[in-house]
Amino acid sequence: MVARVGRRSLWFEHLHQPDGWLSPGHVSVGDDGVVEAVAATPPPGWDAGGAERFAGYALPGMPNLHSHAFQRAIAGFTEARAREGGADSFWTWREAMYGCALRVTPEQCEAIAAQAFAEMLEAGYTAVGEFHYLHHDLDGRPYADPAELSLRILAAAAQTGIAITHLPVFYAHGGFDRPPGERQRRFVHSEVDAFLRLFDAVQRSTARLRHARAGIAPHSLRAVAPAELDELAAFARSSGVPLHLHIAEQRAEVEECLARRGARPLQWLADRLELGPELCLVHATHCDDDERNRLAASAAVVGLCPTTEANLGDGRFPVAELVAAGGRFGIGSDSQVEISVAAELRHCEYGERVVREQRNVLASGDGSHTGRRVFELALAGGAQALAQPMGAVSPGRRADVVVLDADHPRLWGHGPDTALDAFVFAGADRAVRDVLVGGRRVVRDGRHVDAGRIAAGAARAVRALSGGAS
Ligand SMILES: [Zn+2]
Repeated sequence: MVARVGRRSLWFEHLHQPDGWLSPGHVSVGDDGVVEAVAATPPPGWDAGGAERFAGYALPGMPNLHSHAFQRAIAGFTEARAREGGADSFWTWREAMYGCALRVTPEQCEAIAAQAFAEMLEAGYTAVGEFHYLHHDLDGRPYADPAELSLRILAAAAQTGIAITHLPVFYAHGGFDRPPGERQRRFVHSEVDAFLRLFDAVQRSTARLRHARAGIAPHSLRAVAPAELDELAAFARSSGVPLHLHIAEQRAEVEECLARRGARPLQWLADRLELGPELCLVHATHCDDDERNRLAASAAVVGLCPTTEANLGDGRFPVAELVAAGGRFGIGSDSQVEISVAAELRHCEYGERVVREQRNVLASGDGSHTGRRVFELALAGGAQALAQPMGAVSPGRRADVVVLDADHPRLWGHGPDTALDAFVFAGADRAVRDVLVGGRRVVRDGRHVDAGRIAAGAARAVRALSGGAS
């Protein structure tokens, strides 16, 4: 568990603010890691002698709204054609992923998650939404403590200092109205009540941790029956916790939903549930115009994971149309094939450029900078989806800050106006030098402060598991 750090004073050469930049920015942070004041001149109570000084460009930490941490172990191991012939797809990748999921032990799960979370912090993510469906022992029976693997994830978050919204997953069916398969045995709860007992244990644990909270994740319309979804959604709403689900990632899922439920997934969901601000719809890739308009008109956040969606051959979400209609989105590293804030944001824009044969599609108007625009949209959507007090370095929000080294070659000649464009498009994400979560430094000189120890444990785990992915 991360120790309390006491009140502190932070000085930034250039500090990103919702309406521009503050150069310099003085930030006072309370014992709880929350910003008390931001000002161009030292605010009352400023500790001039003890202030920590950060040269360069200071950005708000980015929320990573969708992660399966253990999948870090198979990154790069699924990039060869299957030997049996036929086209590779999401479904063949899923078999490889199951090969890992069926073997990972609690110790390995914690070690790999800690590595993934450390890499997230080094990339500029300061909070993670861990969509966690690995619950049971290797044989499918609950652990002595049914929350064992959730507690391992929370321990990994505490080791690294990343803020976490832990999202235990309810998974009951192997497909629309089909029983779960043997290879899904570690994920399955046959009853909502048993799952809610697990959630209760998770919530009690997150309440004891710094920067941690819990939410609920019905896996998908494939894996959750309508009545189960109703019960979980009502529970989430009455409890005031986030509700995340995968939706419309694959065309096959859309077709099966049409056949089984009589409507496309997003259409069916929007008819059944109010698409409220507690909802995060992960992927939503295959939406038609009507579904996209309903998403845009709602308060829900679309969870885009563009590097994973490209890697898995899922398809492309129409993000420009969503944004133009006032919709909300955030980004996630999902399969961990890459852990890069900049890559997720860049793919959002590049997907539009290659289809439209235009540039700067997501910029908000004449003179608007695309890098800053996509960064800020994803900040707001991610903070909402994770229900974390972040998204800006402002009073009342946590002091999550990512500082870029202005002397890095990829920032030569840049100033505040273009630093975020360089970060998103031109490799300046390699200039991440310092990262603070709640005012506490977790990355120094581009490396997690405990990177060596974390990597030693994770290397053993990944090497032991990598045979299962091939
Ligand atoms: Zn996912």
